[in-house]
Amino acid sequence: MSIRFPHGPTVPEIGIGTWFVGDEPTRRDDEIAAIRAGLDAGLRVIDTAEVYGDGRAEDLVGEAIRGRRDDVFLVSKVLPYNASAAGVRRAVHASLRRLGTDRLDLYLLHWRGAVPFGETVAAFERLMDDGDILAWGVSNLDLDDMSELPPGCATDQVLYNPSRRGPEVDLFPLLRAQSIPVMAYSPLEQARMLDDPRLAELAASVGLSPAQLVLAWVVREGDVLAIPKAGSVAHARENAAVLGVTLSADVQAEIDRLFPAPRHPVPLEML
Ligand code: NDP
Repeated sequence: MSIRFPHGPTVPEIGIGTWFVGDEPTRRDDEIAAIRAGLDAGLRVIDTAEVYGDGRAEDLVGEAIRGRRDDVFLVSKVLPYNASAAGVRRAVHASLRRLGTDRLDLYLLHWRGAVPFGETVAAFERLMDDGDILAWGVSNLDLDDMSELPPGCATDQVLYNPSRRGPEVDLFPLLRAQSIPVMAYSPLEQARMLDDPRLAELAASVGLSPAQLVLAWVVREGDVLAIPKAGSVAHARENAAVLGVTLSADVQAEIDRLFPAPRHPVPLEML
């Protein structure tokens, strides 16, 4: 199964998150090895942001992908405080320097701030003209915000996992109607849901780990990309092994029973 972005590229349905990566020097080698193991196992999307560790995550990603940039679909994000015409340009060049590359495959507005969307998007379009970024998107935007956005958005990166199903009610249908794929962040609920004994039992019954079951569920519709963060080679390989896994209707129905979607719209949650 692969995820298609509106401007053409397709990527595997599981990617690699990097929040908190690069913060702890003693973990650096493991974190780099985990990213490389994910790429070796067929993952392509790496998600990072200028704000993660004040640039430390981008710096670590740069080291992890050195010599294999073309294997990667690289995503980073600009802070809303840097989202002015001049700020975006400064921010992307700093990100590119830390990442050791000349282009981002996708550049996202991290969340909505005070700068009007029109100014930020015009700045993104100029970066596309210059070849610094190949596409732009957003993160943490709910229905109303999405409706105000100028055309051309490649993704909305939002909090989504079995315990955060609000976007299914109204945001996902809007994005689907425009063929905009979703990037699901914190797809494992930062590991908090993996200890749930009901989930563990269901996962074991189909030969998956709890993390694999949750990831396979998150990407089940074919237009949602999950970007779990893994700090070890073992976790990276386990997550990559979800590529191509399809859950049966029975398993999906059981997850619906354990983690029902809300019946009415709820405001988009953020971490
Ligand atoms: P995740 O839901 O990806 O959970 C990460 C946690 O799950 C870590 O503790 C990790 O442990 C653990 N884990 C990973 N794989 C496994 C596995 N196979 N078995 C057991 N445990 C596992 O949380 P994140 O918040 O990191 O979200 C993912 C990414 O989404 C971020 O890294 C970031 O790139 C993005 N994000 C974007 C946001 C936005 O505002 N746009 C907000 C939040 C996240 P270990 O490290 O030991 O492997």
